[in-house]
Amino acid sequence: MMKYLIPLLFALSFLMSFKSDIDKVYICDNKTSSVYHIRKNCKALDKCSHKIITVTTKEAVDKYSKRACKICK
Ligand SMILES: [Zn+2]
Repeated sequence: MMKYLIPLLFALSFLMSFKSDIDKVYICDNKTSSVYHIRKNCKALDKCSHKIITVTTKEAVDKYSKRACKICK
């Protein structure tokens, strides 16, 4: 049983890391911005003078309470 379980887990974690990879969004770490950006070259992100953090969409919504940017969505 273990013999089959371990490669299965590897495959699963690979798929999940791949999924979270394509699920990255960018947020400006200035506390006042309330949006996350799909594209890193978004016009609104250009104005960000703080650090730009890369998070997953879920983190952006749940942890940082952001909504999708209207410009780059
Ligand atoms: Zn944007």
